Amino acid sequence: MTRYIFITGGVVSSLGKGLGAAALGALLQARGYRVRLCKLDPYLNVDPGTMSPFQHGEVFVTDDGAETDLDLGHYERFTGVPAKATDNTTTGRIYTEVLSRERKGDYLGATIQVIPHITNAIKDFIAEKENTADFVLCEIGGTVGDIESLPFLEAIRQFGNEVGDDRALFLHVTLLPYIPAAGELKTKPTQHSVKELMSAGIRPDILLCRADRPIDDEERAKIALFCNIDVKKVIPALDVSSIYEVPLTYHGEGLDRQVMESFGIKDIPNLDLSIWENIIHNIKEPEGEVKIAIVGKYTNLADSYKSLNEALIHGGIANKVKVKLQFIEAEIFESHDPEQYLAGANGILVPGGFGARGAEGKIRAAQYARERKIPYFGICFGMQMAVIEGARNLCGIKKAGSTEFGPCDEPIVGLMTEWVKDDKKQKRGKDGDLGGTMRLGAYPAKLKKGSRVNEIYESEKISERHRHRYEVNMAYRERLESEGMTFSGLSPDGLLPEIIEYPDHPWFVGVQFHPELKSKPFDPHPLFVSFIQAAMKQSRLV
Ligand code: GLN
Repeated sequence: MTRYIFITGGVVSSLGKGLGAAALGALLQARGYRVRLCKLDPYLNVDPGTMSPFQHGEVFVTDDGAETDLDLGHYERFTGVPAKATDNTTTGRIYTEVLSRERKGDYLGATIQVIPHITNAIKDFIAEKENTADFVLCEIGGTVGDIESLPFLEAIRQFGNEVGDDRALFLHVTLLPYIPAAGELKTKPTQHSVKELMSAGIRPDILLCRADRPIDDEERAKIALFCNIDVKKVIPALDVSSIYEVPLTYHGEGLDRQVMESFGIKDIPNLDLSIWENIIHNIKEPEGEVKIAIVGKYTNLADSYKSLNEALIHGGIANKVKVKLQFIEAEIFESHDPEQYLAGANGILVPGGFGARGAEGKIRAAQYARERKIPYFGICFGMQMAVIEGARNLCGIKKAGSTEFGPCDEPIVGLMTEWVKDDKKQKRGKDGDLGGTMRLGAYPAKLKKGSRVNEIYESEKISERHRHRYEVNMAYRERLESEGMTFSGLSPDGLLPEIIEYPDHPWFVGVQFHPELKSKPFDPHPLFVSFIQAAMKQSRLV
């Protein structure tokens, strides 16, 4: 029997609903249950793939090639359950589905309406998870009270009613703001938000109250009274210094126990939280510190590189060091010497990216790292820029560039027009749709025996997630290899470069995929563990 937990948010956005859902998922897992997490996003885009990282943060890619909300990254990092395309949907996708069925004549004769057609499609999305886990945690994006969330609230209300109280639970995340003049946390916004939810026909079973300081008993009692809820189910969710502390603190406040009790589960299984305790121990008591410079484009918004930041932290946890991240706008290096910015870095990372702006700065960062023998990690765009750098400065191909930036005499990086996915040839042209048409999702690669990456992965076969439209041009391989670069990872048919490295450099690796998407605090990605180790050597910590 599958039980459903619906997570909504009130008062303001950015309350950490996704993180809360992920942490609750981890706690249920710690009690031995199978969990699955999914997210319903109320915006009209079919997926976040075409949205700017400024608007929406990182796009998280699943093994099966979906471009999804970054909350799916939290889900996977906290539970280890690989996210799937069917774990995320949007208003845009739901409408596309319903409208294409309408055109086909599937509803012939009927007037198509939000209720029941849209709400039914939402319920189908949820019901499809039946029997895939003991608990399905389903987060509703946006804030209660938004016009666009209404069909989702209506759908989960109906769904809850259909499966019954013992199989559906509504968890509402709210905020208690602190008003300095009054010297207290205010409960009124929470009361209003619950009222709003009730007007949609949903009575929350549990309230998770975010606050920046302890919530005293009087305030909890007040919320319980006005929101018609048991005081034990008004759960404080205070700010913590590391997101990996959230499962432990929520457990401490009784969240998972209250969930069990709300469902009427009698024999509550014991739980083991030692993996989270070990993680927190390594975070709170590091034996040193390394500085990593991230030379990118959306560096003023940490959410744009969410998984990357976390993967670097995981590399630190594995090595018991604190990883200090320094974000640098790549464009600066087009007018300033990298030296003054990068001299103190123990490692330089150029992450994924799109478009010409900042590209020259990233190429200079790669050159600085190669020449100064500072560990360099190039991810996707960061690999492509490192190869252009090598072509220009080692092979003397002065006009080396990428066709992503316009017509190019020496296309070291070019548009990928054909590749193989699951034994089928994929084809793309330069005038095709932008949404959902990149080389997306998990692809296998073969590693060169004895290469650095072969050693790091301890395997010659890997599978990693991709999201790119361009590729390093194999026509230049020989010239690059004769100058010391090794193509140490290739697609199984040997046609697409997946990894490059310089064997005579302390640590210089460029990968065409996104290893950060698969890293977890309890199972850090080997490339990040090794990169942080190299940074420790650079800083003479080891
Ligand atoms: N813009 C490059 C491409 O499409 C790199 C993409 C990325 O870094 N994710 O190939």
